[in-house]
Amino acid sequence: MVKRVLSIGTLLSAITGLLVVVLVAAFAVSALSAYHREKQSRMLVSVVSGARDIMAPMIAVRAEVTLANLVLEAPQAAVPGTVAELRRLVPMLEPGPVAAASFCDEEATVDPVAATKLLLEAAVSHGAVVRHPATVSSFDMNGAQVRGVRVEGDTIAVDAVVLATGVELPPLAAMLGLTVPMQDSPGLLAHTRPHGRLLDRVIVAPGATLKQLPNGEIVTGVDFGGSPSQDTSAAMGQRLLEGAGRFVPRLKEATLDRVTLGWRVLPADGQPIIGRVPSRPNVYLAAMHSGITLSPAVGQLAAIELLDEVQVDLLEPYRLTRFA
Ligand SMILES: Cc1cc2nc3c(=O)[nH]c(=O)nc-3n(C[C@H](O)[C@H](O)[C@H](O)COP(=O)(O)OP(=O)(O)OC[C@H]3O[C@@H](n4cnc5c(N)ncnc54)[C@H](O)[C@@H]3O)c2cc1C
Repeated sequence: MVKRVLSIGTLLSAITGLLVVVLVAAFAVSALSAYHREKQSRMLVSVVSGARDIMAPMIAVRAEVTLANLVLEAPQAAVPGTVAELRRLVPMLEPGPVAAASFCDEEATVDPVAATKLLLEAAVSHGAVVRHPATVSSFDMNGAQVRGVRVEGDTIAVDAVVLATGVELPPLAAMLGLTVPMQDSPGLLAHTRPHGRLLDRVIVAPGATLKQLPNGEIVTGVDFGGSPSQDTSAAMGQRLLEGAGRFVPRLKEATLDRVTLGWRVLPADGQPIIGRVPSRPNVYLAAMHSGITLSPAVGQLAAIELLDEVQVDLLEPYRLTRFA
């Protein structure tokens, strides 16, 4: 009997010991992955802050204010301090009843065309050769590898090819036997003629986003999602301006210049497609919405993958192979 009790006791302490080992191991694994996640987040934040620091002195960078007064079904007036703070941040703002608002000090916007030109100039100063405009019409292959890119009668010899051709990615990728699933996502924007300065911040309000470019042009759209309409008429432009004018009444002083219809670079599942393709080892894909916001981080991470021939963990969920 004593022996049996002893052996049960031994068994129990062995199980307890094993549980402790399992728990310690599980804790260590979760601490390690938390550490990696934190390390990756810190790296991203420092990359993005670095890009912002580099660009800030050269092109206008504007911070973002958001309102959420119509998001809640039954909005209640915010405390007077909130509205006063909003007016202090954006003196031209007439927010209406505010249930919630936020000011994102860390978020900002840049003029994407100005930023692209700046980055191209920097690349050229480091020895890059830019050919623009130039249309890639086909690829020369050597087995699975791309050996040359055909550009208007010339063939450019390549070690690697990065396909970042936005909504034109699927037809180019198809020439390489790759299927890149994308969805249509039209986006309408109304642009005014350059106007005296009304806004120094980006406003994201219910049903209207607004910003004023450094040249005085005011740009407004409905939101960051796909637009149900592809109507680029002046009447649609006026409707967009009126929608935004609910929040910035002085917008009626501005004159509509044009309405643009853009197509968001949106992969079928809404997530970016980034990285090498196993069946085409020297081809690298980059297609994503919010490509401007993501570009400082993705540019750095893609450069690491391309130049150091490594795989960055953070990009693993975004490979093309997830659609296979
Ligand atoms: C209305 C609207 C609002 C948006 N708002 C935001 C926003 O607020 N924040 C944000 O981050 N993003 C926003 N975006 C998305 C952003 O514009 C894209 O994510 C970004 O432009 C993608 O960059 P990219 O370089 O991959 O592609 P693109 O900017 O589309 O560039 C692709 C380039 O490849 C060229 N090309 C195509 N085919 C060929 C070929 N055969 N040979 C040679 N060149 C070729 C094209 O001419 C183009 O110059 C918005 C988009 C739209 C339409």
